[in-house]
Amino acid sequence: MRLSKMLFVTLREDPADAEIPSHKLLVRAGYIRRIGSGLYTYMPLMWRVLQKVSAIVREEMNAAGAQELLMPQLQPAELWQESGRWDTYTKAEGIMFSLTDRQGREVGLGPTHEEVITAVARDMVRSYRQLPVNLYQIQTKFRDEIRPRFGLMRGREFIMKDSYSFHVDEVSLKETYARMHEAYCNIFRRSGLEFRAVDADSGAIGGSGSQEFMVLAEAGEDEVLYTDDGQYAANVEKAIALPVVAEISQYTTYEKRETIGTNAIVKVCKVLKCSPTTVLKNVLYQVTFDSGITAAAIVSLRGDQDVNEVKLQNELTKLAPNYKATTVIGLVVPDEEAQAKWLAKALPLGYISPAIADDYIQGSETISPKFIRLADHTAAALKNFVTGADEVNYHVVGANWGTEFTLPLVVDIRKAVAGDRAHHDNSQILQTARGIEVGHIFQLGTKYSEAMNATFTSEQGEEKPFVMGCYGIGVSRLAQSAVEQSYDKDGIIWPVAIAPYHAIVVVPNVNDEVQMAAAEKIYGDLNAAGVETLLDDRDERAGVKFKDSELVGIPFRIVTGKALKDGKVEVVIRATKTAQEIAIGDVVSTISQWVKDAL
Ligand code: ATP
Ligand code: MG
Repeated sequence: MRLSKMLFVTLREDPADAEIPSHKLLVRAGYIRRIGSGLYTYMPLMWRVLQKVSAIVREEMNAAGAQELLMPQLQPAELWQESGRWDTYTKAEGIMFSLTDRQGREVGLGPTHEEVITAVARDMVRSYRQLPVNLYQIQTKFRDEIRPRFGLMRGREFIMKDSYSFHVDEVSLKETYARMHEAYCNIFRRSGLEFRAVDADSGAIGGSGSQEFMVLAEAGEDEVLYTDDGQYAANVEKAIALPVVAEISQYTTYEKRETIGTNAIVKVCKVLKCSPTTVLKNVLYQVTFDSGITAAAIVSLRGDQDVNEVKLQNELTKLAPNYKATTVIGLVVPDEEAQAKWLAKALPLGYISPAIADDYIQGSETISPKFIRLADHTAAALKNFVTGADEVNYHVVGANWGTEFTLPLVVDIRKAVAGDRAHHDNSQILQTARGIEVGHIFQLGTKYSEAMNATFTSEQGEEKPFVMGCYGIGVSRLAQSAVEQSYDKDGIIWPVAIAPYHAIVVVPNVNDEVQMAAAEKIYGDLNAAGVETLLDDRDERAGVKFKDSELVGIPFRIVTGKALKDGKVEVVIRATKTAQEIAIGDVVSTISQWVKDAL
C-alpha cells in the first residue's frame, strides 16, 4: 500500500481524553477514531491488526478442535428469561443494551452468548454420540459499561472470540478446558505478549474452575498476586493466602473495658495497647437479593484484615435461597441514610460485637429481621480477643468463641495482600503485579443447561443436562494490550506477528528519481516475497516520514537515501532502533528472514 493513496492521518498532540499510553498512541497514529463513549472506528491499519489477531485465534482454535460459527447479535429476551439473567443483565446490573422491536417484543444486544448457544445445542445435539463439541465465533459484543475508558480496553462495543463446549461429563469438560488453556497460551505467545494465567473468581456462576489470562502492564485494571517460584498466581478477587502470624493476646480473662472514642481499630489498639491481630473486627454490610429482600450482615475478621467483597458476595449468594432469591444484586457498606430504612434504633457503630442483637433491625416484608452473621477464618482462629461490647465507648477483652461468643458460619472472605505467605509453601511470599484481562476460560458445569432444560440422551439412555465450558478472548483489548506492553517515547513497537505491515519503505525525497526507482523496486519485491510492505511516497519532508514510521510502529524500515550511491539502503529495526546498511540485492532475503524468524 502506498501512503500517498491511503487515508493516513497522524496527530502530533495526545488526545485530551486518553489516560494511558496505548490509547494515546493508537489515536495519534491514526489506528482508531472515537465516535462516542466507548465506541471506536477501527481505521484501516487497526483493522489489519485485528484481522491478524483473529487469524492467530482461528488457527489455534481450529487446531484445538473447535469449529467456527456465527450467532445473532440481537437476542430474544425469552432466552435470557429462561436462564434467569434477563432482569439482572438489563436492570439490576444494566450491562445489557435492550430494546423493544416494532412487534413489541423485547430483545437485547449480545454481551455474551451462553443463552443462544445453549438453545442451539438443545435443538441440535440429541445424543452423547455428538459430544463433545466446541463452537466458537469472533464477533462484536455490546456492553453498557458503567465506565467505558482507555480506548479499546473497555469499550461498549468490542470484538470478542467466544467459545462454548458441551460434554457428557466433567471429565470430558476438563479435557477440553486443558486444551483451551494450551490454545490460549499459544495465542498470547504468538501475539508477542508477556502474560500470566491466573486463578480467577467464577462469581455467582459457580462451576469448578476458571482462569484469566493477564497481560502484565502497569495500566492494568486488575491486581494479580503471585509467588516467585511460579507455583501460584491469582486475581486478587480470588487469591487465597496465609496472613502474617497473629500476636498472642495479653488478655487472658474476659472483661468489659471503657475505651472512650475508640470507634476504629487503630484507636482501640492504642488505648488497650494491643496488636490489631488480637482484635475481632465486625463490619456491617447491607445485602439486597433479587427477591427484593434486604438483609443486614455482620462480617467478622481479624483486626488487621480487610474484606474481599467478591468473596463476600459469593458467600452471600450461597445464602440466597434462604431469602427466596437466587442471587445478590446489591452489596454495600450502608451509610446513615441507608441504615435508616431498616434500623429500629441506632447501632453502636465502631463498638459492635458479633453477637449484636437482632432487635436493632426493624423487620418487614422486604427486610430480614435477623442479621446474617459470617466469620472469616482469621476471625475463627482468634483466642482471648478484643471486640466491641455493643455499647458506645466500651470494648470487651479476653473473649473466646464457644464461651462468650457463638462462632458464626466460617467462610473465606479476607482479601489476600502482597506480603502474605503462600499456602503451597509458607516461605513463598506473595508479590503483586498489575494485569489486563485478555482472556477467561471457565468450567460452567450445568448452570445454563439445567436452567434452559438442554439435555442429551446418555449412553445409558438417560436424559442428562450438558456439562458446559466457555472461553473468551477480548480480541480488540488484546490488540491494544500489545501496544501497552511495547512502545517507546517515539511511538508503537508492534510485535511482528500482529503488526499491520511488516515493513515500510521510506523515500526521503520523492522528487529524486533514483531514490524513487529503488524504492518502487524494493517495495514490489518485498510484497511479492510475502513481506507485507508500505511505501511512504508522500511528498513530505524526510523527518516527518521518519517520525510517522516510528509512531505507527512498523517493525522494519527501509530508507532509499544516501547509501544508494554504494548500492545499499539503510534498514532500521523499530524495536531497537538499530540501523544498518544492506546491499540492495540482499534486502528482500534479509527482511523475509527476519519476518520468518519473528513469527
Ligand atoms: P472485565 O472484568 O474486564 O469487565 P469480564 O470478566 O466481564 O471483563 P468476560 O465476560 O470474561 O469479561 O469477557 C471475555 C473477554 O472479553 C475478557 O477477558 C476481556 O478480554 C474482553 N472484554 C470484556 N469486556 C470488555 C470491554 N468492555 N471492552 C473490551 N474488551 C472486553
Ligand atoms: Mg472475565
